[in-house]
Formats: sequence, structure tokens, C-alpha cells
Amino acid sequence: MTDVVAEGGAAEGAVAEDIAVEITGLKKSFGPLDVLKGIDLQVRRGEVVCVIGPSGSGKSTLLRCVNLLEEPSGGKIVVDGVELTDPDVDIDRARTRIGMVFQGFNLFSHLNVLNNLTVAQRKVLKRDQKQAEEIALRNLERVGLSEKVDAMPAQLSGGQQQRVAIARALSMDPDVMLFDEPTSALDPELVGDVLAVMRQLADEGMTMLVVTHEMQFAREVADKVLFMDGGYVVEQGPAEQVIGAPQQERTKTFLSRVL
Ligand code: ADP
Ligand code: MG
Repeated sequence: MTDVVAEGGAAEGAVAEDIAVEITGLKKSFGPLDVLKGIDLQVRRGEVVCVIGPSGSGKSTLLRCVNLLEEPSGGKIVVDGVELTDPDVDIDRARTRIGMVFQGFNLFSHLNVLNNLTVAQRKVLKRDQKQAEEIALRNLERVGLSEKVDAMPAQLSGGQQQRVAIARALSMDPDVMLFDEPTSALDPELVGDVLAVMRQLADEGMTMLVVTHEMQFAREVADKVLFMDGGYVVEQGPAEQVIGAPQQERTKTFLSRVL
């Protein structure tokens, strides 16, 4: 079924257009270490998919393959109709359509907030300064940090830095946002603000692929939850099913540790 959609031509156009990310048989090895052993995953436009699973199960590697920070060893990744695994693809161009927010705060420490948000818009998207600033301010407002436009990253809390990182990714007009444990490095009292911004993005219809340990968030926001272990997708489905009534022993064991 998924293969049909992925390889569908014009006849399946209506269906294919609805799919933001299509991953088929994705494999990734580091030398002898097989980290991803055949991942199939579909994210529809406007859908939030949460990826859960124990440390070392390959969650970050999966996201890094979707953003081509890692080169897949096998399989196929299609984002917004562009096959990223096609050897002839323009990787830099394809990557601008994909926003990524990491666990650590990856702001440019020597640039103030405004310039953090404008630099890639100008260099990669060739927007002029005025337009880049307008877009930056709009996205800063979206994450509730308009008043921090002139601040340096070091003057912000971890939660504020992470919200700036989200605003920076949004300023590139991504089709898809990838989040890799965006709240894991935060003090507990700062987690809620970042999750609230992500929840708002979800409500606005952003397509999101989120690796998280926040089970409450996954339960409330995710359209689909995927449990990974040992490089495989062990179980996937609606949140109330995978988190609320898991079928697989490995999923049950994992959830009993984190819930
Ligand atoms: P998770 O995010 O689920 O904790 P990762 O995707 O980070 O898991 O890692 C999965 C496995 O791949 C781990 O065993 C990790 O050590 C290994 N791994 C990840 N990146 C590399 C790399 N660049 N080189 C070698 N091994 C790696
Ligand atoms: Mg990880």
C-alpha cells in the first residue's frame, strides 16, 4: 500500500499530495553497526507524528536521515514529493524545506536573536534584509518572544533559546518540522513553554515529526505514535492505542519505565 503511494504517478496525485513524508525501507549502518533496519513511515500533511523509544533505538538517526544530515544506507525518503535519496537531488535546496530543532540549543552565540533568525533567510533563501526581518519578527511573535529581538542567546533561558530556535526554523517556511527531544535538556519548569509553542504549531496545521519522551504531549497532540526499538518500528498507530493500549511486550516494558 505504501509502496503504491510512494511510486504513484499522476493517477495517484491526489493521494500523494496529501503525504508530506514517505519513508520506505530506510536503513542506516555505521560500519558494522546496523542502526536502522528497515523503517517505514508516512506523515500526512498537517499531521503530528511522535517517535518514542529507548535511548539508542535509532530515533535521532531516523530524523537525521530525513534531513540528510546522515546518508541513508538503503531505502527511500520522499519529502514533499522530492525524493531525497535520489542521487541527483539538490540536497541544499531540499533541506530548506525541512526545519529541524535539536535537543541542544543551536543558536549562533555571537549573533543576537534577530540576526539568528535572518542569516539563513538572506544567505540561503536570498531574501533582502527588510523582508527577512519582517518574517523574523512575525515568527518571534509566534513563539511569544517579540521583546527578545535584540537579546544575545546567552541572555536567554534554555526554554527561550529553544523557542528562538523554533522561530528560526519557521522563518525558512518549512513544509515539515523535525524535533529531536526539544525539551530534554531543559529545566523542568521551562518545558511547558516550549511544548505550548509546539502544540500551537500543531493546531496551526504544521506537519511535525517529533522525537520526545513527553508522553503526555504525545498523547494529546500526536495523530500517530511510533514506538522504535533496536532499529525497528515495533508498533505504530493512534496515540491512545500505542501509549494507551500497547500490543507489543517491548512497548509495554518501555512505557512502564517512562510513564
Ligand atoms: P536514539 O536517538 O534513539 O537514542 P541514536 O539514533 O542516537 O539513538 O543512536 C542509535 C545508535 O546508533 C546508537 O548505538 C549510537 O551509538 C549509534 N550511532 C549514532 N550516530 C552514530 C555515528 N555517527 N557513528 C557511529 N554510531 C552512531
Ligand atoms: Mg536521540
